[in-house]
Amino acid sequence: MEQLIENKLIKADLAFSSWKKMSFEERQVLIRKAAEILKNNSEKFGTIITTEMNKPISQSIAEVEKCALMMNYYADAENILKAEKIDSEFTYSEVHYVPKGVILGVMPWNFPFWQVLRFAVPAMLAGNTVVLKHASICFGSGNAIEEVLLEAGFPEGVFQNLEVGHTEVKGILEHEIVKGVSLTGSGKAGGEVASIAGLNIKKSLLELGGSDAFIIFDDADLDEAVKSGVKSRLQNCGQTCTAAKRFIIDEKIEDAFLPKFIEEYKKYIPADPMDKETLIGGMARPDLADDLENQFTRALENGAEIIIPLERISDTEFNPGLIRVQEGNPILQEELFGPLGMIMIAKTDDEALQMANDIPFGLSNSVWTNNKERQLFFIENLESGTVNINRMTSSDPRFPFGGTKSSGYGTELSLHALKEFVTAKTIVGN
Ligand code: NDP
Repeated sequence: MEQLIENKLIKADLAFSSWKKMSFEERQVLIRKAAEILKNNSEKFGTIITTEMNKPISQSIAEVEKCALMMNYYADAENILKAEKIDSEFTYSEVHYVPKGVILGVMPWNFPFWQVLRFAVPAMLAGNTVVLKHASICFGSGNAIEEVLLEAGFPEGVFQNLEVGHTEVKGILEHEIVKGVSLTGSGKAGGEVASIAGLNIKKSLLELGGSDAFIIFDDADLDEAVKSGVKSRLQNCGQTCTAAKRFIIDEKIEDAFLPKFIEEYKKYIPADPMDKETLIGGMARPDLADDLENQFTRALENGAEIIIPLERISDTEFNPGLIRVQEGNPILQEELFGPLGMIMIAKTDDEALQMANDIPFGLSNSVWTNNKERQLFFIENLESGTVNINRMTSSDPRFPFGGTKSSGYGTELSLHALKEFVTAKTIVGN
């Protein structure tokens, strides 16, 4: 390992020895200050995001503002990490929540501020220090986050951006100073990182891909479903883990729903990402656009029909595509991480449920119906970390966020996230 990186790990470990002694409330003061800096400079930081990965500027600014919102949630959060008394016959009978130490974050490019801070803020509030391996196209965002935290008064070493490529993750995670890892990204990267963590008996948290269903019934508000569905599929150029990727439509409303859906879909025309009116820009990297084009071709080879063609108009830009897919098409087992949606038609509630669950992923799903019984049926039976009723998926700091099946494990956001990188230490006896 490069000496510079080793020095940063040592610095993170040194910072941990004093950071863990600071009170929860003192750490909250710093988090609130950092939130304020982000909010007051959302345009400046949004520009870094857009420059690095092509997200339309209005969505980049919204991302920075959402980070501030999440940080204020943690700045106000109840301290659930206080020592807990347990009712027993012993004199000593309590649980202490002890931070683990230096935690590595391996983070992706699709939400370059949000993904990092969503992991790092609760981890640091719990008393850990953080080293970041950001996506290789997002080192500017990583450095900006480090600067914001320093400006807010976080001690040196509590959060550091490492600026390393992914081949260096193994050595960092194996280092004795690093006590755990949180990764957001592809299943391939997640599997590799989790196996290194496992071999070294270190805690891991994985937030991986999804292929969320967006299920619409005849008793739903169709206009609202159309607007939300298209936005959910196409915002951030379709590069969102919780984007609606498979639209499962009640056959009774196919004729009423599809024309409206297509009309709304065609409003997303690639334009200058720095223009505040732009709804969709290019994908983050040309190779990711190549992958999407290959998936489109394979889907068609396996029987998918074109509703709107996916048209590549530059190295990273597409006119968004929409395809009708039958059950059994292997494309349904993959994540489409770009502006290509899939339509499926269901005859019954059971069929819609079966289609929704018949994938390797289990991140989030969205069901549109005003029938209470139907709502309860899907709440009970959908296999995912989140079920939304009459709303698109949009994470909210107050609620736990995480997946099941191949979408990963562990919980981000909410008070639950505070307990991901701590040891529940039992103190018992007389
Ligand atoms: P990756 O999973 O490859 O990248 C995410 C992060 O993991 C980056 O920091 C990357 O570093 C790092 N990484 C990659 N491979 C390894 C490895 N073997 N060991 C350690 N770290 C690694 O995503 P891609 O950018 O290649 O995108 C590919 C696909 O992944 C997308 O099409 C999408 O399906 C999925 N994805 C899902 C995301 C989500 O939010 N769940 C986010 C991003 C991607 P580096 O940049 O240096 O390679």
